[in-house]
Order: sequence, then structure tokens, then C-alpha cells
Amino acid sequence: MLSTTVAAAFRQHYPATPLLVRAPGRVNLIGEHTDYNNGFVLPAAIDKEICFAVALNNQPEARLYSVDQDEHYTLNLQDVQPGNTQWANYLKGVVAGFQQRGVTVPGFDCAFGGNVPIGAGLSSSAAVECGLAFALNELLNAGFSRMELALIGQQAEHQFAGVRSGLMDQFASLFGKADHVVRLDCRSLDYEYFPFDTATCHIVLCNSGVKHSLASSEYNTRRQECEKGVQILQQYYPEVESLRDATLDQLDQHREELGDVVYRRCSYVVRENQRVEIACQHLTQGDLAAFGQQMYASHAGLRDDYEVSCPELDVLVEIARETPGVLGSRMMGGGFGGCTINLVPTELVDSFCERAAAEYQSRLGLHLETYKTSIVAGVEALPAVATSGQ
Ligand code: ADP
Ligand code: MG
Repeated sequence: MLSTTVAAAFRQHYPATPLLVRAPGRVNLIGEHTDYNNGFVLPAAIDKEICFAVALNNQPEARLYSVDQDEHYTLNLQDVQPGNTQWANYLKGVVAGFQQRGVTVPGFDCAFGGNVPIGAGLSSSAAVECGLAFALNELLNAGFSRMELALIGQQAEHQFAGVRSGLMDQFASLFGKADHVVRLDCRSLDYEYFPFDTATCHIVLCNSGVKHSLASSEYNTRRQECEKGVQILQQYYPEVESLRDATLDQLDQHREELGDVVYRRCSYVVRENQRVEIACQHLTQGDLAAFGQQMYASHAGLRDDYEVSCPELDVLVEIARETPGVLGSRMMGGGFGGCTINLVPTELVDSFCERAAAEYQSRLGLHLETYKTSIVAGVEALPAVATSGQ
């Protein structure tokens, strides 16, 4: 088990009995490119996680050990700055977040490792941040809420990894609940849980294995296109502060002024927010098949109107569509690569994974990796494990 391995690694290097914490990665069921438009997202924590073993050490420094990289890093707590060791930057960013909130962080030892696929869009970096933030909060009795810990993680991402991401990833890792998805209002940070039965239906991720270089420039362009839409609408509807407040009617009224491209970008965002709402109603009714239809519609909008998909992702969604029994599929994340997220009845999971890999190979000559996941609780402390003799 992961926590046993990490606890054993901790004991090899450090003398104390550590606090053990698990921190999950996340998926987003629906609500893509809505976060920076102040809209809604629907993430869940998944059973791919990073485990931490952490204890105070009565030293002036923090000693960090990445189990997976088998690498050590000593952190001078008087001078916490981003540096060249990427994995350490996420941890340093969290320490800096505590310090910036007036908490004196004493020396500590930390070993961590996990199985969240790196760079696949499952937010391994948020799991790293949230795991340490939770552990330090416990060990120092700092009294931060889970929302504050999420904000500390996000700040680490901004200031120490240089990624200007929204709050969803850290929120999902910290607020996950078994067999539930959680709808986050990215404006107010209000949230609501909806039941999601992972006993009958699994979430399967298909990793396209590609990341087209367009991704970051197109992301910036999309943000600008959305802002342009808001600026135009605001002249007529001052209450529209972001696309979250706009309606399709308003867009139609000013279609010419918006121009074809901005019109399509904005209408995608308005529709996607509506889809999140409808999808949540389906979950309340326990109708995963209807929920899945919203996922297919989301993908069509991302492909045709928002134009952030790519041939590899489109082929993966097509394969899912053609596979009898698969309930829903769409690209997940910023686009131009990464994973598709698929809703697959439990008894079909193995055959779907095999079929998808074979089809991806035969249609595009590309290797497909698949991850079967279920929805689990967010960050939590684990009971101590016996490590003697290991
Ligand atoms: P993701 O989409 O998975 O969050 P990022 O590029 O944002 O991708 O974050 C990946 C980085 O997080 C890795 O390069 C590494 O620095 C850190 N990381 C993630 N998982 C681990 C791990 N198990 N051990 C050490 N570092 C990790
Ligand atoms: Mg990340």
C-alpha cells in the first residue's frame, strides 16, 4: 500500500513517528473553461493519490524527501524562495503560504510519494500542495479551514510554480466526498454535493499522450475572447460582469457586433454553465445516462465552438460513442491534448479500455494509457501504520 511504502521511506531517513496524510488527484466531470468566466465546475477527488509522512524535527530546517524521485532537499525556513527543483517548489510554496499568514513554521521532516499520473491533467501538483498544507495545519495547530488550505495551495501554484490556475484543483482535493461530485461556484466559492454512484459506474480516463504546443497561447486567446464578449455586452447590460451572467438571448441580440468567433466562444460558455446545472439535476434523479449526454454535448461545444479540442481527443470521444454502453465522454482540461473522461458501467470497464487502446492504435498509430478511477474522500489523515521490519 502506498501509505506503508511512504511511512517506511520516512522511517529509513528520519527518526520520529510521522503523521500520515493522503491527498487525492481530481477529475472534472463537466464545466470546462467556465472557471475563469466566474461560472461552475463539477470536480471529484479520485483514488489516485499522494501520501505524506510528516513530523516536526526540532531542527532549523525542513528536510524533504521525494520517494518517487529518490531525491532529498533541505529547505532553509528563513529564506523560502522558488528554485530549480520542481517538486520542492510546490512544498516550498505551501510553507511560504503559512509564513505569509503569520505562522512560524518550525523544522519538519517530510517524505511523500504517490500514483497520480504526472502532467495528465489529474492535478498531481494540487495533491502535493494540499497534502503538505493539511499535514502542517495539523502538526502546527494552525487552525486554517479547508478553504484556506486550498487557497494556500493555489497561491503555491501561482507564486512557486508560475501557473496561474483557478481554485478548482485544490478545492477538489480537499473537499472531495466518496461517491459524490461537488459543484463549485467559482465566483462565490459556494459549493454543493451531488450523489454519483461509482459502484455501478466508473470513471475511465483515456490519456491521449499528446500535448500540442498551441495549448497555452490558445488558452490566453480564449480568455481574451471571453473578455471581449463581456465588454461588448456590458454596454447594453451593465449587470453582466462576466459570461456567467450572460444569456443566449443577449448574445443573439448582439451577434453581429460580437462577430462570429467571439459569439461562438461566448455561447459555448453560457451553454456549458447551463449544462452543469442540468447535469446536476440528472444526478439528483440518479440518471447517469442523461448526465452522460451532457458530457457528449460539452465535448461537441469544446470541439466546434470553443475550438480547443484536437484530432486525438476527438477520436477518443468517437471511440467511446461507438462503444455500446458507454454513457458519456468528453475532453477534460484546457484542451489540445491530455485526457478524455468517460463514464463506463463497471462491467464494461475492462472491455472498453481494451477496445479504446486497440482502436486508438489502429486509427492514429498512437499508444493509449487508460486509468480506471472511482470517487473518494478528500485529503485526510490516515491511521499510523506499523513499519518495523520493513
Ligand atoms: P499535473 O497536471 O499532474 O498537476 P503539473 O505539471 O501541474 O501536472 O504538476 C506535476 C509536477 O508535480 C511534477 O513535475 C512534480 O514536480 C510534482 N509531482 C507530482 N507528483 C509527484 C510525485 N509523486 N512525486 C514528486 N513530485 C510530484
Ligand atoms: Mg498541476
